[in-house]
Amino acid sequence: MADELRDELKIITGSLRRHLEWRQQTGMMLVARGDGTGSREPVHGSPVESNFLAGVEGSLFSDDAGVFKARSLEELKNAIGDCRRCKLWPGRTHLVFGIGNPKAAVMFVGEGPGRDEDLQGEPFVGRAGQLLTDIITKGMNLRREDVYIANVIKCRPPENRNPEPDEIESCEPFLRRQIDLVKPKVIVALGKFAVQTLLRTKVPIMRLRGSWQDYHGIKLMPTLHPAYLLRNPGDKRLVWEDVKKVLKELGMPAA
Ligand code: URA
Repeated sequence: MADELRDELKIITGSLRRHLEWRQQTGMMLVARGDGTGSREPVHGSPVESNFLAGVEGSLFSDDAGVFKARSLEELKNAIGDCRRCKLWPGRTHLVFGIGNPKAAVMFVGEGPGRDEDLQGEPFVGRAGQLLTDIITKGMNLRREDVYIANVIKCRPPENRNPEPDEIESCEPFLRRQIDLVKPKVIVALGKFAVQTLLRTKVPIMRLRGSWQDYHGIKLMPTLHPAYLLRNPGDKRLVWEDVKKVLKELGMPAA
């Protein structure tokens, strides 16, 4: 509950900040008239609308209310829309929302789209994605369509750099809503950013991996990111150990 309130507050403050920035950029600074009537006039002379918060871009919260109201992944995607809530949007080709079974028992959460994902609009389709697909299909005997796959941030950072705190802060409520809607039995959090964001912790991934954690009543298994495994193939055995725990929890035989 505390997390939900925190997310809502984050969305509200983000919305307020963007709204104020928009007003600053468009010169729509309003001052109270000194005649005690409480009515307002624009500093730069543009006419004041009767409802001064009306209008699409300038409307407070107009872009975020739908995120909380979304009753399906489709509605959530529409509510996120052509997102410009953080500084990543100008560099993206596609916003990478997420893919898979909307009622999946297992949800994988990664960090954010890389080049291939940005071009195709689908999470985990590049080299690291191929490895994740192998884990799902060969390691777990599932199809990609059986699980749900999403990321902490939905737009590719420049040069695939790490996501920055303000970017995570803007995007994280969408991931939390995705999890609420999918209601998986198990979340597999891939790498530091997914694990630390969802668990709101700074504990290093190497200390957390392989041990069950709780995400609002959902079992969360922290494990290593496939991109890390491409650089450190010797650690694949650690991920296999973690995956076996997930399979056991789901009552599935190890492939
Ligand atoms: N790495 C991620 O964390 N997510 C993707 O979608 C692709 C690579």
